Amino acid sequence: MPPTTTAWDEIVRELGERRVKRDVTLAPFTTFKIGGPADLFFEARNADDLALAVTSARRLNIPYFVLGLGANILIGDRGFRGLIIRNAAAHHRFEASGRLWTESGALVKDLIQEAVRLGWSGLEHYVGIPSTVGGAIWQNLHFLSPAPERERTMFIAEVFESCEILNEANERVTVGSDYVRFAYDDSVFHHTRDVILAATFRLVRGDSAAMHRILQENLSWRGSRHPWLEWHPSAGSIFKKIEGVGAGRLVDQCGLKGHRVGDAQISHIHANIMVNLGQATAADVRSLIGIAQRAVRDKFDLNLEPEIGFIGEF
Ligand SMILES: Cc1cc2nc3c(=O)[nH]c(=O)nc-3n(C[C@H](O)[C@H](O)[C@H](O)COP(=O)(O)OP(=O)(O)OC[C@H]3O[C@@H](n4cnc5c(N)ncnc54)[C@H](O)[C@@H]3O)c2cc1C
Repeated sequence: MPPTTTAWDEIVRELGERRVKRDVTLAPFTTFKIGGPADLFFEARNADDLALAVTSARRLNIPYFVLGLGANILIGDRGFRGLIIRNAAAHHRFEASGRLWTESGALVKDLIQEAVRLGWSGLEHYVGIPSTVGGAIWQNLHFLSPAPERERTMFIAEVFESCEILNEANERVTVGSDYVRFAYDDSVFHHTRDVILAATFRLVRGDSAAMHRILQENLSWRGSRHPWLEWHPSAGSIFKKIEGVGAGRLVDQCGLKGHRVGDAQISHIHANIMVNLGQATAADVRSLIGIAQRAVRDKFDLNLEPEIGFIGEF
């Protein structure tokens, strides 16, 4: 049942007339720079804000979506009917024990910078990956470390200790890895409506030169293999990994690098990444996804499954 006008007025009152905006274009809040308007838009500045917005939306039966950095989603051209809760809750503190407590809207990039400055190691491997803490836990952020002596996929789960969530009963509880059930590109949060409010990571004392070396190696590895986000907005990998064969390699073998629909293009340098050349629409991206899926199905009899989330109306 769609929310009533009364429900909308009520949530605006509860969250603050000045703080709830109407008809906000979502494209700038995503790394793809694509997406139509949200009926209602609220920026959570701390974990209490985030919990309040979610609880109110649930009680008033207003559809909502918790938006991090928008780095793993495609928002439809017609936008979102309901409330977008943009998570900008970024308070955090590094403790002498090596624990980092942080609200879930903090940017991983900012935490890495501060951790390295303070000599805490554990997060630096994820440099260059756009994400909030909430998004990183949701997806179990990972990176294939390029240096020969540490060549393996590293997961954010490795430094995770616990997180505070708002569960489906609107209770705030702290849960550990046993509850979160991290897997490849997966966690319990894909399968529940829990919202991550804050998290604690366990870091260790690190050698500054060694951490800076990792930052440089990882950034240059990414820089040489991925399109640069500042120039070519994207949502990272479009399709899920197929064990043993890279999804990008399959798309490449279909001769689709550089293929375009409108301003959406399969990157020339990484066939599993689609880039926005300027005015791409969600419809352009969706039709490019369909083209890649059909080509791979016809040539290899394999199904490419999108990794990104499709949000709102297309
Ligand atoms: C250029 C580029 C490179 C990338 N490279 C990598 C890579 O190397 N490795 C990798 O793992 N990923 C990579 N990604 C994907 C992306 O960075 C990650 O998936 C990231 O964790 C997304 O975080 P976000 O804050 O942007 O989440 P969003 O895209 O905003 O949201 C993703 C999902 O998480 C949910 N969510 C967000 N916050 C919360 C919360 N607090 N509580 C509950 N649910 C929440 C949202 O509701 C949504 O369903 C890349 C993306 C880009 C654009």
